[in-house]
Amino acid sequence: MSGHPEDSSCELPGASPADGRRHRQFDGAAWDGVTPRVYKLGGSSVPGAAWRDVVRHTLAGGAGEPMAFQLRYFEIEPGGYSSLEKHRHVHTIIVLHGAGRVVVGREVFDVAPFDFVYVPPNVPHQFVNAGAATFGFLCPVDADRDPPQPLNNEELHELLSDPRVREALRVQETTGSGIRD
Ligand code: MN
Repeated sequence: MSGHPEDSSCELPGASPADGRRHRQFDGAAWDGVTPRVYKLGGSSVPGAAWRDVVRHTLAGGAGEPMAFQLRYFEIEPGGYSSLEKHRHVHTIIVLHGAGRVVVGREVFDVAPFDFVYVPPNVPHQFVNAGAATFGFLCPVDADRDPPQPLNNEELHELLSDPRVREALRVQETTGSGIRD
């Protein structure tokens, strides 16, 4: 399944339920009436824009509810990662499960349940599963938001010039820069 930048794991407007339910029971894998959107394998013609093994649960927002945000829960399986991208809208995440590594510009954070991460406007970012269990996090986001953009080559290589960032990032192999998948 392809992952165009506008389909990025963290950004695709979700088909949220909007069925008026006040309560959704969690059965250990998903919520009542919320269909997880599964992306088993990401691919993209844009260097660095791939993603792998990301599932999004959109719990609310974006389907006519009187709210300006969407509440989403993401799960990234071991070996998986979200696309490396940037956009004007911000992200706030709260980790609920597993171990992750989050790249925010040239900073790399190892995160655990209940850790919080803020991604400022236009800062490149990527969420990577850094453990052997599912990495799960809440990611509310503006319902009306600009689409994510891939990094240009200059931005990508600038990021990769930092050894710690290079180690943390998961990007497609590009022109001879030795980037691993
Ligand atoms: Mn994003």
